[in-house]
Amino acid sequence: MSKKIIIWFRNDLRSHDHQPLHQAVQLNAQIIPIYCFDPRTFGQTNCGFPKTGAFRAKFLLESLIDLRHKLKTLGSNLIIRQGFPELIIPELALDIQATDVYFHGEATSEEIKVETDLINNLTKIGVKSVSFWGHSLYNPEDLPFQISNLPELFTSFRKEVEKSSIVNPPLPTPAQLPPIDNLEVGEIPTLGELGFEPAIADPRTIIKFTGGETSGLERLDYYFWQSDLIRTYKETRNGMLGEDYSSKFSPWLALGCLSPRYIYAQVKKYEQERTANDSTYWLIFELLWRDYFRFIATKHGDRLFKRSGLQGINLPWSEDGGQFGLWQTGQTGFPLIDANMQELAATGFMSNRGRQNVASFLTKNMGINWQMGAKWFESMLIDYDVCSNWGNWNYAAGVGNDARGFRYFNILKQSQDYDPDGKYVKHWLPALKLVPSRKVHSPWTLLDVELERSQINIGKDYPKPILDLDRSVKVNEQAYNSACGIGKNAHKRENLRR
Ligand SMILES: Cc1cc2nc3c(=O)[nH]c(=O)nc-3n(C[C@H](O)[C@H](O)[C@H](O)COP(=O)(O)OP(=O)(O)OC[C@H]3O[C@@H](n4cnc5c(N)ncnc54)[C@H](O)[C@@H]3O)c2cc1C
Repeated sequence: MSKKIIIWFRNDLRSHDHQPLHQAVQLNAQIIPIYCFDPRTFGQTNCGFPKTGAFRAKFLLESLIDLRHKLKTLGSNLIIRQGFPELIIPELALDIQATDVYFHGEATSEEIKVETDLINNLTKIGVKSVSFWGHSLYNPEDLPFQISNLPELFTSFRKEVEKSSIVNPPLPTPAQLPPIDNLEVGEIPTLGELGFEPAIADPRTIIKFTGGETSGLERLDYYFWQSDLIRTYKETRNGMLGEDYSSKFSPWLALGCLSPRYIYAQVKKYEQERTANDSTYWLIFELLWRDYFRFIATKHGDRLFKRSGLQGINLPWSEDGGQFGLWQTGQTGFPLIDANMQELAATGFMSNRGRQNVASFLTKNMGINWQMGAKWFESMLIDYDVCSNWGNWNYAAGVGNDARGFRYFNILKQSQDYDPDGKYVKHWLPALKLVPSRKVHSPWTLLDVELERSQINIGKDYPKPILDLDRSVKVNEQAYNSACGIGKNAHKRENLRR
């Protein structure tokens, strides 16, 4: 009897480099692709934020429309259902007498629980399930160590995998898929049906992200082949304003519309056909960070989400909702922070430079519980990825596995280094438009005559700073050192300059 395989799509909304699909095709099986809208994905965090905000929901719907279209052109379709996958899929399997269910496994507990329940329910009805690993460059079995022995430091991880492991080539998109018989395919819901207001694009938005494999591949084609932007990635990647300072692959990677191994293969092709330089290497270097956080999450499980972080450092974090609200809405009086937080709220995206600064400010200046920041990012980010988000927040809060003492970003220095003429903050904070560049990052220092010329009233048109940068850092450093049992002079304050 030929196999009848259900392919459960999750955060892998693509047809290229999709091992479950590829393997089912190799077996000449009947193939039933399905996606389930799991209501838990659209629930609330315990901070009261939606787990999935409107930007990501929209991107998801676009990605599903694109995937359905792609599967249709291959001769198949995408079944859509609403509800718990661990109940819906076994019901479908019974109904159509499926022999197997194939899917990509995830790395963190909520997702693993769904998989485990699904596997148990399928076992009870005699249906086989197969989980594949497919979200990273490297497969666990290709690592030069067991995940339980994964190096805690990124640099050690990187050096060992670069020395001893290879990245497998991406699998091709199937040439054709079998039809799905007479199954009711189900409608992809609209944003409104998912409970979201129609998203109105903010006119300040520079890059418009459209979900789906097609637009992900187009972005890669543009960034590598049409514009050669990858050639200068290392020099531009710390930018904050514009479409092209970095690859912007992250939303497509997070939902699996782009495979990291496909990107890797394209970098290698670019290196052969055009040029190999520090920039082409650096894109792979950044993808290695992504791999590293996924493996770290696999190794450490739920410690990733704990208040005391992977290091287990018990800090006296504040949970002052009013103060947190100022950070969330970009009303701190520090333009670099406010512009970035307002960009996030208006677009669902923020540059890596911005993310590092706002995370440092929340935890090292405001002393606010980093988990609240991570949950806000989870809600807002169009590219939210459990492992990258919670891993980076652990790192930024100083509770990560490779925390190296109290390290923080000097917000004013960062502003000067990365936005010297204030173009970025002026773009997002129109109240600062006429402020002279040399004072745009410290508008509280404007003299009366400058205030008048800039047509700005500090405290009314733009907030006064909510804290003293130096003093707040000292207070939080002391708290950190005493939580770590470090003597007064044992640790020099280290200013992050990544
Ligand atoms: C506090 C904080 C939270 C973050 N949350 C997320 C998140 O939820 N999802 C997410 O994809 N990234 C997250 N990042 C990492 C990084 O900021 C984004 O991946 C990057 O800004 C996306 O833009 P890009 O695709 O243009 O990146 P590029 O600079 O072009 O990098 C290429 C790819 O490398 C990966 N990458 C780059 N930097 C990192 C990093 N520090 N950690 C992990 N992967 C990286 C991403 O997949 C990215 O798409 C976070 C960083 C911080 C400091």
